[in-house]
Amino acid sequence: MEAVTISAIEAAADRIAGHVRRTPMANSASLSELCGAPVHLKLEHWQETGAFKLRGATNAVLSLSDEERARGVVAASTGNHGRALAHAAKKAGARCTVSMSKLVPQNKLDAIAALGAEIRIVGNSQDDAQIEVDRLAREDGMVPLPPFDHPDIIAGQGTIGLEIVKDLPDAETVLVPLSGGGLIAGVAAAIKAQAPGTRIVGISMARGAAMQASLAAGHPVEVKELPTLADSLGGGIGLDNRLTFQMVRDLVDEVVLLTEAEIAAGMRHAYFQEREILEGGAAVGIAALLAGKVEARGPIVALLSGRNVAMDLHARIMAGANGLEEAA
Ligand SMILES: *Cc1c(COP(=O)(O)O)cnc(C)c1O
Repeated sequence: MEAVTISAIEAAADRIAGHVRRTPMANSASLSELCGAPVHLKLEHWQETGAFKLRGATNAVLSLSDEERARGVVAASTGNHGRALAHAAKKAGARCTVSMSKLVPQNKLDAIAALGAEIRIVGNSQDDAQIEVDRLAREDGMVPLPPFDHPDIIAGQGTIGLEIVKDLPDAETVLVPLSGGGLIAGVAAAIKAQAPGTRIVGISMARGAAMQASLAAGHPVEVKELPTLADSLGGGIGLDNRLTFQMVRDLVDEVVLLTEAEIAAGMRHAYFQEREILEGGAAVGIAALLAGKVEARGPIVALLSGRNVAMDLHARIMAGANGLEEAA
């Protein structure tokens, strides 16, 4: 499949304007001081539904034909994509079913149900949830809109890259949370087309980093899915990956892996220094800077991707817990 182009991303920006928030960028005094280079935070966790995934879901739903919209949309999701798709489908008047594994936190499940989507809880992994999606597509004719490996989803997430270049044309380094790679593929495509010298760094948790393992192997591989503070970064990239593996391989300069304690420290820094509530998967850019795991070549942008964390878990991490086990 063809990589997503800057023109597709620009078309997505026109399509979703007025449906999603244009999020601001803020300088971080504390991180700039720490790194000895200007650090800016892209405040995408302020997006409606609490995560960037509304951009891709909205672009995909608005790109459906009338006939497809009438059949309804379906996805497997660790939470934020399901929530975004439910929101976008409701706005467009389309039926939406979300299939998810038992690992998904209750707060995320509740939020999706509140948006009027039908929920299916299936199995212990993203792969099990996906089998139900395939069945609904085959037997009920629903349109599958996956969380990352789809051109309209990638183009929608890429609109964040357009905003970063507009707000900070001389960015040297952009830190992007990385799971299935829809976010970083779109952002990298938008940025590299306009500023090819900008370094794009993907950041995942060490516990179950499927894209990193796939890049190392040279092809998509499966990794064991483990509970992590960065739950929105969990899940595989799909052995039949069509787009994001190839785009990440071609466009991303480096991938960094973090421990649970490093992610917890990132969440604490966001809260106590920046006054921002972040979920684990969204704090990885800040966490990588704090851990000294990325070269501090500035100006640096850390993309903060979501804030949908259970508040009791967040409180325990703020009190000093360094991971899920300690926080339990
Ligand atoms: C989905 C998600 C990511 C990762 O996005 P991918 O496109 O799967 O790489 C990062 N942060 C948050 C908050 C997410 O919901």
